[in-house]
Amino acid sequence: MKLFKIKKSKIDKNGLYANRDIKKGTRILEYKGKIISVKKSETDPKFDNGKAIYLFNINKRYDLDGDFKFNLARLINHSCEPNCEVLGSGLKIWIYAMRNIKKGEELSYDYGFSYDEDYKNYPCKCGTEKCIGYIVREGSRWRLAKKK
Ligand SMILES: [Zn+2]
Repeated sequence: MKLFKIKKSKIDKNGLYANRDIKKGTRILEYKGKIISVKKSETDPKFDNGKAIYLFNINKRYDLDGDFKFNLARLINHSCEPNCEVLGSGLKIWIYAMRNIKKGEELSYDYGFSYDEDYKNYPCKCGTEKCIGYIVREGSRWRLAKKK
């Protein structure tokens, strides 16, 4: 049985949902895309917004551009209290369960946006208890908490 299915999300548009119970540490799906050089991602206007949601750094020389329809992992929404994490292995990137996930739960991970002056353009609707209201990576959320 497939581990996940695509469903309309309460957070944003479509999302991926656990199709059965998933154990912590399970490799759920590959974050597919095209390998591009860091040089290209730094100069291509496509990525010129500082918040390239689908761009992952692999190493000093390469990034992975996941902005393609065939990359189902791009449908996973951000959450302030995620149940998945994104980990690289060689030139591949995988979505792992960072805790036990129950059938029917929406899969999510921390988009890892840095905190800067345009954070207000990226509201978060994850609805978890820890939600800070904006998509900002965990290590920077205290800056928002302070402002409240
Ligand atoms: Zn949130």
